Amino acid sequence: MNSPAPALRSDNAAPPDLRQWLRQLAATGRLAVARSGVSLIDQLAAISKKLENDSTVVFPSPDGHAIAVVANLFIDRRSVADALGVPIGQLLSRLQGAVRSPLPWVEVTDAPVQQQVHREVDLLKLLPIPKHNEHDSGPYITAALLIARNPKTGIQNVSIHRCQISGPNRIGVLLLPRHTRHYFSMAEREGTPLEIALVIGVHPACILASQAIAALDQDEMHIAGALLGRPVDMVKCLSNEVRVPAHAEIVLEGRILPKVREPEGPFGEFPQYYGDRADREVIQIDVVTHRHNPIFHTIVGGGMEHLILGAVPREATLLEHLQRSFPSVRDVRLTRGGTCRYHLAVQTEKVSEGEPKNIIMGAFAGHYDVKQVVVVDTDVDIDDPNEIEWAVATRFQADRDLVVVAGAQGSKLDPSSDDGISAKMGLDATKPVVTGPLEFKRIHVKGIESVDLAAALQPDPQAALLRIVAD
Ligand code: MN
Repeated sequence: MNSPAPALRSDNAAPPDLRQWLRQLAATGRLAVARSGVSLIDQLAAISKKLENDSTVVFPSPDGHAIAVVANLFIDRRSVADALGVPIGQLLSRLQGAVRSPLPWVEVTDAPVQQQVHREVDLLKLLPIPKHNEHDSGPYITAALLIARNPKTGIQNVSIHRCQISGPNRIGVLLLPRHTRHYFSMAEREGTPLEIALVIGVHPACILASQAIAALDQDEMHIAGALLGRPVDMVKCLSNEVRVPAHAEIVLEGRILPKVREPEGPFGEFPQYYGDRADREVIQIDVVTHRHNPIFHTIVGGGMEHLILGAVPREATLLEHLQRSFPSVRDVRLTRGGTCRYHLAVQTEKVSEGEPKNIIMGAFAGHYDVKQVVVVDTDVDIDDPNEIEWAVATRFQADRDLVVVAGAQGSKLDPSSDDGISAKMGLDATKPVVTGPLEFKRIHVKGIESVDLAAALQPDPQAALLRIVAD
């Protein structure tokens, strides 16, 4: 059943949305498009994963489905900065600014996302939902913003959860102990369902905003507004009170059911292992709405897009958190080897002995996922794992510079933890504040920065060598 297309807004330029971003990628040679006939089971994820460091990829009609799929919206830190329209060096400060000065959304009534309405829901027929990692329990919706309302105040929360297709209108969902779970517990205590919407296909800035480590009852769509430089247009769902981005591609309106738990998992997760199968919360979908010719966004579990999305907004929050207590902290990275969640590198302009250990303790308190912290000086490039290891090799002594905390809260998805109870390790790999003139001075060849190899080298080395070694 289709509703009539709403009149076009004429008051201002088109709001930034996913399709506008994809057009921009295509125009600048950063978009790959797959041939038709790609299977939603395994094959789509395999091609996406193969391209995870290279380009965004669109699948026009996977398995002959009428709806296209896009993957790899983020391929590296630079692609995140590009999506926000900032130089890479300003990426974290831009995110910090958006959390500090959010821009509230505005409610509209004309919404492209409600151009087509389905009140009889069969998710696998309606949407091209892929299966990603080999031992996933089946197809998963992985890139949906789950928008929930505080049952008492109506304040909205936005987050991303893995969503298993459990039946034609049933979804098994993993709720970690954060804001969605808090709202759901409030509703469940009253014996009522929690109204939610799953929003698929939004501008990358909205996805990034959903991953900000904001306070409870800070609406992440306000952060998205600040990132986009204009309030997000939101529209009321047709079947409940949740407000959703009007220019999203697809919206699933539904409820998390009270006192219902059903098996969910396994699912390939960011630590590069499978999250287990267990009884978890269940969403019932009541209505699906979408734009004409919608685009379905998917994230390969544990792939680069998943990792980057975990890292960058967390880095912004951790940096802000650390700089509140330690103005000497310059930058942070959640490193790739640490699954972009568990291992944090901190760069500091060290001013006093001992402070790196305080920074380590502060970082552990910044997010429970942080398991290892390495503090380095400003001459160490924290984007380069070899540089970090070099600092540990030459500026760290385990009996003097190591901090270990036993039995703290960690990540339940870390298979080495005891159901989320985890040890923490901090390494102070900074050099002393006061050193001798050449002590801890990095070697350097004078003039290397200005060498012009084209001018310095002969064009034909073979001929040149023959002249040198002529007998
Ligand atoms: Mn939140």
